[in-house]
Amino acid sequence: MHFTTRAIHAGQEPEPRTGSVNVPIYQTSTYAQDGVGEHRGWDYGRSGNPTRDALQMALASLEQAEDAVVFASGLAAEDAVFRLLSPGDHVIMADDVYGGTWRQVAKVHVPAGLLEVTTVDLADLDAVAAAVRPTTRLVWVETPSNPLLKVFDLAALATVAHDAGARLVVDNTFATPYLTQPLAHGADLVVHSTTKYLGGHSDVVGGAVCTDAETAERLRFLQNAVGAVGGPLDNYLTLRGIKTLGVRMETHCANAAAIADHLVDHPAITQVLYPGLAHHRNHDVAARQMRHFGGMLSIRLAGGRPAADAVAVGTELFFLAESLGGVESLIEHPGAMTHASVAGTALEVPDDLLRLSVGIEHVDDLVADLDHALAQV
Ligand SMILES: *Cc1c(COP(=O)(O)O)cnc(C)c1O
Repeated sequence: MHFTTRAIHAGQEPEPRTGSVNVPIYQTSTYAQDGVGEHRGWDYGRSGNPTRDALQMALASLEQAEDAVVFASGLAAEDAVFRLLSPGDHVIMADDVYGGTWRQVAKVHVPAGLLEVTTVDLADLDAVAAAVRPTTRLVWVETPSNPLLKVFDLAALATVAHDAGARLVVDNTFATPYLTQPLAHGADLVVHSTTKYLGGHSDVVGGAVCTDAETAERLRFLQNAVGAVGGPLDNYLTLRGIKTLGVRMETHCANAAAIADHLVDHPAITQVLYPGLAHHRNHDVAARQMRHFGGMLSIRLAGGRPAADAVAVGTELFFLAESLGGVESLIEHPGAMTHASVAGTALEVPDDLLRLSVGIEHVDDLVADLDHALAQV
């Protein structure tokens, strides 16, 4: 079945007792048992919930994975993946990895002795190979990356990782399975912040890992032992968002491409970072690996930080806010907002940079809003 059909049907049979076409919100912490230890597949809300099961089945189907495990947030999902490692294991990550991922690794897992980490430019495959150690277990990649919109070649990275005896983890939050399905390119685990495009309406926080059945079982054990489960209403909202992922992504991508084209020659802007632009460093990889070029773009302002601040507060339709992937357009200053946790490190982002999450409003209104804000700097 096609992607957009699976988004609406996978894991989402009508509820058998009433015929409810929507998966109910099973708002319960426990389940009555038929006999001592004889339950119907669910015994306690941390261990399992039918609304969560439905979401897991839908996500596994969209990523073409054997299984999916849903968490309370994207960072909770990532934490579970890192807990698959043993002390001394080594991880290779991009030098522009998401700030929250970097904070978790550098400030929590490294000090606890769980893992060691090296950051490299993942577009330089020789540098990746040179960073490999006998203890390397994971190569961790986001594509397109946040907020610099770098694109990395998943098949090539999978080869380098597998040659090193490591597994490739792809944070697929920006591309979503509608644009890229990393497991088909050789990845071993896909992580998501479902808070973003999958939920799609800026009304719920969640995360997921899509992977093989054996790894999913280990992650479920960890989740039950550690406790990072989302609630049934959260799972329902995410599932509801997923139903329209395909149509939303079509508009997000078309709007972002039109805005990138419009801004590329703007006198107030020195650079537009968007994988769909022909001069993007890895445009050819993006064209091969993605259905469209995504709904995220970043711009650098000729007037530096003051101009960036003025534009960020000068838009009306683009709300000045963290996060991304919702139906409404958002603008933010990564250096001071989402990526403040990497300030002063090698992962610091330029302070003339603004990141745009292009929503699904009418593109003419979005262009007019940006033009108006840019005219003031
Ligand atoms: C938001 C985000 C995360 C973290 O997810 P939360 O749901 O906020 O915990 C991880 N990776 C990327 C690329 C993100 O954008």
